[in-house]
Amino acid sequence: MISLKSKREIQLMRQAADVLKLVFQEVHKHIRPGIATDELDQFAEKVIRDAGAEPAFKGYRGFPKTACISVNEEVVHGIPGNRILKEGDIISFDIGARVQGYYADAARTWPVGTVTKDEMLLIKTAKDALDAGLAAYKPGCRIGDLAEAIQKLIESRGFQVVREYVGHGIGRAIHEDPQVPNYGKAGQGARIQPGMVLAIEPMVTQGNCAVEILQDGWTVVTKDRKPASHYEDDIAFSEEGFVILTRDEPDVSV
Ligand code: MG
Repeated sequence: MISLKSKREIQLMRQAADVLKLVFQEVHKHIRPGIATDELDQFAEKVIRDAGAEPAFKGYRGFPKTACISVNEEVVHGIPGNRILKEGDIISFDIGARVQGYYADAARTWPVGTVTKDEMLLIKTAKDALDAGLAAYKPGCRIGDLAEAIQKLIESRGFQVVREYVGHGIGRAIHEDPQVPNYGKAGQGARIQPGMVLAIEPMVTQGNCAVEILQDGWTVVTKDRKPASHYEDDIAFSEEGFVILTRDEPDVSV
């Protein structure tokens, strides 16, 4: 069931989204070779709690940390720990917060020091794909219109789209209907209506898009162990169009 949000509910989601923007600004400052992913997680938790919000992922289905941090071939759901970032890594940082029962969920991928040109393009493509999806939005259009545009942008650059994990509605729960795939056909799927808030989150692979889950039960990696990127924003749709709740302009991502 798709729940439509009132202006008041979207205002609360905006507060949660503002907290995530602060997290991105703070954590991005600390991305450098030599830092452990767990330290980044601690910075994120402090920003969220100092803002009077709660981390949304901690304890979700038993996830132990505040952020999902996924390095290189890790696509999503990496668990922060004692892994030390090194020059040339790329790191996807996915974070959720709750304010008065309402959620925001967003992700960025950042380079650690200098990465290859192709990896920079991989990083940029996840964001560009989300923006291409939004550029395809017209009042009354369907999820598939956005999904097709996202897929086309990614594949036009020689990259691939992960199929197993998709975007979602968001609000009183972190994952609500409808599903928002990053691939598909225009004209298919639910109609986008005023009051919908969607977390759109393209996951892009440099090599083949097949993925598997590591022994820890969480970390999703590419089967060919080539790098992947991920970018996620929450978008509130209204009669007037849409607002990207979780994005600063200029963004700290790329
Ligand atoms: Mg999400």
